[in-house]
Amino acid sequence: MGDLLKNKNILIMGVRNKWSIAWGIAKAAKEQGANLILTYLGEREKESLDKLIAGMDNVETCPCDVTSDENLDELFSNIKNKYGVIHGVVHAIAFAKSEDLQDTFVNTSRDGFHTAMDVSVYSLIAVAKRAKELMTEGGSIITLTYRGSEKVYPGYNIMGVAKAALEASVRYTAHELGAQNIRVNAISSGPVKTMSAKGVKNFSDILEIVEKKSFLRRNVTLEDLGGTAVYLLSDLSSGLTGEVLYIDAGYNNMGL
Ligand code: NAP
Repeated sequence: MGDLLKNKNILIMGVRNKWSIAWGIAKAAKEQGANLILTYLGEREKESLDKLIAGMDNVETCPCDVTSDENLDELFSNIKNKYGVIHGVVHAIAFAKSEDLQDTFVNTSRDGFHTAMDVSVYSLIAVAKRAKELMTEGGSIITLTYRGSEKVYPGYNIMGVAKAALEASVRYTAHELGAQNIRVNAISSGPVKTMSAKGVKNFSDILEIVEKKSFLRRNVTLEDLGGTAVYLLSDLSSGLTGEVLYIDAGYNNMGL
């Protein structure tokens, strides 16, 4: 146990199960003394979340579908009533229709494009807009991205486009909220076997190649990502904002 996040109220969005990147971050933040608010999408997810947090102090769960402004308003109004202030937000949410991750990129449907951008990009903006009202003591907002935003990973398709827009949104949000001492950064994670990742064609090939070629000759773990998130959420990173940090065992710097 440490106290880097002691008395900090942290909202974490995107814990689906024990393999979720958001769960790795939640565990690391808890170990540093944070009070956690975890969101879930539906009743099925609530059940698995309740099992995960059984026995943990100062952790609560709230429903939230980020495509609904009403859901978001209710979430932040409940947080305001109970906590008054929040210090950190972890946005670990993304979605694309499975057909848009299986078919060729040029076959992406208009509807699929809108859905991916709404859930995976607009949600960060919608969350930041509400979070800033409760970050009266300054704060840190983190999102999760992938190198498919910059380089082509066949099959990543519309998610690559969404991640590029997400990273640009990080910079614009960070610029605006900087005046309130709210920092906004993205972690560009190496591949991690999660529910969402399973939807990407050839994902196990990506894991294998990265393990072989990355500087550390391994894939990243939830602990690697949790540690970086604690750094970003805490005052240790007080001068860092608008950045995309690669936590990928060095893979992004390989030429061949
Ligand atoms: P995950 O465990 O499946 O988490 C994704 C989360 O997004 C789930 O909790 C999912 O909820 C939630 N979500 C989807 N649509 C939502 C909506 N409308 N409202 C609220 N929540 C919604 O997968 P993950 O890999 O940890 O993903 C977390 C983030 O990391 C994503 O942004 C992903 O793109 C990013 N990332 C992942 C990797 C990787 O290799 N895994 C690499 C780089 C970046 P339900 O499951 O309940 O639908």
